[in-house]
Amino acid sequence: MAEKLYGGIEGGGTKFNCAIGDGPQTIVKEARFATTTPKETIGQVIEFFTPFADQLYGIGLGSFGPFDVDPASPTFGYITTTPKPGWGNTNILGMLREKIHTPIAVDMDVVVAGLGEARWGASKNDSHSLYLTIGTGIGGGYIVDGQPLRALTSLEMGHIRIPHDLKLDPFQGACPYHGDCFEGLAAGPAIQARFGQRAETLTDDNPYWDVEAGYIAHALTNFILSLAPQRIIIGGGVMQKGFMFPLVRKKVQELLNGYISHDRIIDHMDDYIVPPALGGQAGVLGCIALAMNQPHST
Ligand code: ADP
Ligand code: ZN
Repeated sequence: MAEKLYGGIEGGGTKFNCAIGDGPQTIVKEARFATTTPKETIGQVIEFFTPFADQLYGIGLGSFGPFDVDPASPTFGYITTTPKPGWGNTNILGMLREKIHTPIAVDMDVVVAGLGEARWGASKNDSHSLYLTIGTGIGGGYIVDGQPLRALTSLEMGHIRIPHDLKLDPFQGACPYHGDCFEGLAAGPAIQARFGQRAETLTDDNPYWDVEAGYIAHALTNFILSLAPQRIIIGGGVMQKGFMFPLVRKKVQELLNGYISHDRIIDHMDDYIVPPALGGQAGVLGCIALAMNQPHST
């Protein structure tokens, strides 16, 4: 049984995962609701938490984006310019706060997944861990001593530039802002745009996977050189292709070319770049971790 109860809400583009507890072993209730309209879906989320209203110390909300997590912004807690029908300019935090009178902390979906992995998952023994998702978009969260790194803005690690050999891969890139940035080249929709079929339906022997692994390895190399994470966790739909992990690890070693001589990179690459240990639960557990992080709720 959980000592204190916290709520987690992982708001995704297809479903909202909700849970109550204080860790992976102590979930007292959980549910998933399809992402339909804000009114319907948020209504179901509110109903889920209502019976626990007096017992919750806090709630963490991680949402798909663009999600405004800057407390100084007039649209703090809004899903802003999403192309998802019905969800543009939705004050999701406001809708929850109107009905739930418990402190609610917010962060981006990728950040909360990173928090979950750092607290209970693959990075539970690391002080500096990087969580990357490669799915509909690409995003990263850097967790330092249990707290997400944020500075002027949140991190936008999916939009860095990486080498793009147009002879090898003539695809122009799918990012509306940058064309062939990392996300524009390597996220699921970019793969789909190249082949006219969803990434999951490309066979494992398609030569493109080697190109994809190269993009991911280039990005990781930049993150390793600039942030020196103790571990890198990669989730998201595209990484369901498990054979990508060994490909990416090998290419990262090749690109670094012995320059970083730490044994995690030289000898323990299999434990350095890893899938999420919490699997699909990383996000919602991370939301609980976010709630537990708040000074007013501990
Ligand atoms: P989201 O990013 O919306 O939260 P996902 O992480 O599941 O969701 O990413 C969805 C993207 O991942 C889609 O572009 C989809 O084609 C791709 N994808 C999903 N499953 C697989 C798979 N098994 N192999 C490769 N790509 C996949
Ligand atoms: Zn971009």
